[in-house]
Amino acid sequence: MSAFDPPLLPSSFLERCAAILGPAGIVREPQSIEPYVTDFWRQYRGRAAAVLRPASTAEVAAVVAEAARARVPLVPQSGNTGLVRGGIPDASGRQVVLSLERMTRIREVDPRGEHIVVEAGCVLETVQQKAAEIGRLFPLALGAQGSCRIGGNLATNAGGVAVLRYGMMRDLVLGLEVVLADGRVWDGLKALRKDNTGYDLKQLFIGSEGTLGVITAAALELFPAPKDRQTLWLGVEGPRIALDVFELFREKAGEVISSFELLTGFGVEAACAHLPGVRRPLPEPHPWHLLIELSWSFEDGLSEKLEAVMERALEMGLVRDGTRAESEAQRANMWRIREGQSEATRHMGFIVRSDVTVPIGRIPELVERMAAWVAGNAPAVTLVPFGHVGDGNLHFNFIAPPERVGELAPLLLERLYDEVTALGGSISAEHGIGRMKREALWRRRPALDRELMARIKAAFDPHGILNPGVILDGAEERS
Ligand SMILES: Cc1cc2nc3c(=O)[nH]c(=O)nc-3n(C[C@H](O)[C@H](O)[C@H](O)COP(=O)(O)OP(=O)(O)OC[C@H]3O[C@@H](n4cnc5c(N)ncnc54)[C@H](O)[C@@H]3O)c2cc1C
Repeated sequence: MSAFDPPLLPSSFLERCAAILGPAGIVREPQSIEPYVTDFWRQYRGRAAAVLRPASTAEVAAVVAEAARARVPLVPQSGNTGLVRGGIPDASGRQVVLSLERMTRIREVDPRGEHIVVEAGCVLETVQQKAAEIGRLFPLALGAQGSCRIGGNLATNAGGVAVLRYGMMRDLVLGLEVVLADGRVWDGLKALRKDNTGYDLKQLFIGSEGTLGVITAAALELFPAPKDRQTLWLGVEGPRIALDVFELFREKAGEVISSFELLTGFGVEAACAHLPGVRRPLPEPHPWHLLIELSWSFEDGLSEKLEAVMERALEMGLVRDGTRAESEAQRANMWRIREGQSEATRHMGFIVRSDVTVPIGRIPELVERMAAWVAGNAPAVTLVPFGHVGDGNLHFNFIAPPERVGELAPLLLERLYDEVTALGGSISAEHGIGRMKREALWRRRPALDRELMARIKAAFDPHGILNPGVILDGAEERS
């Protein structure tokens, strides 16, 4: 397979882009293109005619205008950690990746105004660090934070481990700068908390997965940095008890809970056995585990409050055992187990990943129904659900024998999506739709939803050059 197939592109398109971007701004060699067309876990691979790497908003605007003229499909990409194949091209070889990775400037940091203005290529962790340097918090946090970039976080409306307290990416954005499908720049880069002036255009781009515009910069909201933080690890019997613990914590410590994560005993043991340096926080194995984090802006006092909640949990018989991180190393160990769930189990087979949500109270039913179905219909598969149970969001990983993955993966996912739908949930909580879930989505969403989305797409991108095949397929867009 050749990743670079010039005849598939209108002649001279790449030459014009090379003239705009200079030698550092365009990648044409198949070997160098490879990382841009392969997903994070190296399970999927597309083809690209080239990769464009603009270094400024003006350069993004100029190459998008060229693509619009030549009708060349572009795939915006930031950190390439997305999990639904939205940031890598399809297999046609006709698409061109538009990488924002060179746009890494922090344009403004304003402690008093509690905002930061960053370009789309800034790595999430860098933004968190910049905020910490001025005694503030940028609360979006997720396992891929050392690689994912703000443009991708915005385009996927990323969630992560602190949604319970701070909301999703959508809730953290004050303004955006976006290059539209015809190459014009939409300047919505205000740092206002309140701005009720008609439709909130920036919100349309957030979660649009590169299909409506190319995000080049954002004004993001900062928060007071927590000064006292408590991280807790509990062994529990199962998801039903986990929800009782959640209810107790909500009642006693409501607004100071930032994370409430659920893990299986299987996943925890796998992490302790296979991730270097990782140790089980509790002496004995337990069927299920909870990782809970609380924080506030007072200097101290949270520890005493937590003790009172824990005493109550023990009195109520909710918890088998529990411990609290006494050092940063212990806290890091707990989070490593949580974030390493995929990594710890990947050698056990092919991991079929998913990300679903149901109303919080229905999480136990979902787990029980899927466990029963897998036991009866696909006993060779191991179920490893984990994730943000405080948001009603689980990542259902299925470990399948690699030689049967083609047969089992569609069955497992269809079953999961059917159960989620029956329980009033959604087939994507935070990863988006991409190319991977598009058909599954439209089999379940009303025709009116598709019609409205297709009309928005047509208004913003009438020639369908921005990430065609993601969320909607071309036929829907033209209809
Ligand atoms: C180990 C691991 C853990 C993860 N944990 C979480 C989690 O807890 N919560 C969560 O929500 N996600 C999680 N993810 C998924 C992923 O990290 C997020 O979706 C992230 O927001 C993607 O950012 P990115 O920069 O890598 O985007 P990319 O993968 O580059 O792109 C993702 C999508 O955004 C579009 N896009 C990218 N940049 C732009 C732009 N500038 N303008 C317009 N469109 C653009 C792409 O076309 C694509 O559709 C995880 C992934 C991994 C690998």
